[in-house]
Amino acid sequence: MTDTLAPAEPYTRTFEAAVEHVDGREVVLEETYFYAESGGQPADRGTLADHDVVDVQSTDTGVVHTLAEAPDVAPGDIVTGRIDDSFRTYCMRAHTASHVVYGAGRQLLENLGYGGFDISPEKVRVDFTTSTNIDDGVLLELERLANQAVWESRPVSWETLPSAEALEVAGIAFNTKTEEGIAGDTVRVVTVGGAGSDDGPWDVAACGGTHVENTRETGPITVLERSNPGEGLTRVEFAVGEPAIERRIAEKEAAYEAAAAVGTNLDGLPAFVRNLQATVEELDAERAELQERLADVRIDELRDEVFQRDGGTWLVGELERLGPNELGETAATMVGEDADVVALAGRDGGTFVAVAASDGFDAAAIVDDVTDEFGGGGGGSPEAAQGGGIEADPAEVVASLRE
Ligand SMILES: [Zn+2]
Repeated sequence: MTDTLAPAEPYTRTFEAAVEHVDGREVVLEETYFYAESGGQPADRGTLADHDVVDVQSTDTGVVHTLAEAPDVAPGDIVTGRIDDSFRTYCMRAHTASHVVYGAGRQLLENLGYGGFDISPEKVRVDFTTSTNIDDGVLLELERLANQAVWESRPVSWETLPSAEALEVAGIAFNTKTEEGIAGDTVRVVTVGGAGSDDGPWDVAACGGTHVENTRETGPITVLERSNPGEGLTRVEFAVGEPAIERRIAEKEAAYEAAAAVGTNLDGLPAFVRNLQATVEELDAERAELQERLADVRIDELRDEVFQRDGGTWLVGELERLGPNELGETAATMVGEDADVVALAGRDGGTFVAVAASDGFDAAAIVDDVTDEFGGGGGGSPEAAQGGGIEADPAEVVASLRE
């Protein structure tokens, strides 16, 4: 059985190899450069003996290539493998970028520990543990440092060491929970090197994936977001290649649009928004005060409209812009003083009514009369009751109560 040669020679795209074993659509070669899905890196795509390769898995019997259909080959035949260049190159860049991002984390985050990794065509995620709260500022600094390491064109190298020796390497990152990559006798160690001869390595990790030879090959890295997937892990998602560029364009587009909408430029946008927020808060406070005064004026008007009914005085009216609880409080403060029954109707999406009553009157029964006539429901006590979901305008409710 052979393992894949992909991690050792990641730039090989075309190769010839002898068939060792065939079982329907599954082919094992004497050696292969196809990457078998492992450790968060997806299986390579491509063709083998001119058939599409739909999956590559490492098993006890070797690296199994699953083809789209059963090939007409036999053990001993020499076949040609072609690895999809675009997807493999993306994976190499993405995988290297994950080491670069983790290396940036080493400089920024306290008590850093490695927790896992995954590549998809749109984004890459790195999970880790840290005691640092990753706010927006930390996230931006992470992106800045990662791209700095790309720009510095740091060499990337890999070697296989005996496990005991590998675990001695200062600061080596590996998943302590799964111990992936360190479970065997040997460990493959991937190093993102120093920027110069007197600069220490940017990152050292146990990793079996495929990588580029220099950080500059990864291109720009764009951090997308951070989240907490559970188990004390922090997840940072980022993109390389086209998704990374597209994200930056989308962010700039949104920022330009926001700036143009308020008639300023990008540099002026944050200050403009802060000022706008302060103005909105002032206006909100002013509006609340004016509404209160408006309600007071309206209540004064209603005092002039008190009428006699069922042997008592009634104050009935509509109060706009107050919620049901505010109406209830207003009715409760007015009852007894201004009238024996105070019934106030309002609207906030649906129509509602609040009733407060003195001895001899039943607020709940008055609400029941309203909901019997117009629909909706409610309840309360003889002293205070509320109804809501009423299928009529407040003016209709008021007119009905004044009859
Ligand atoms: Zn790696």
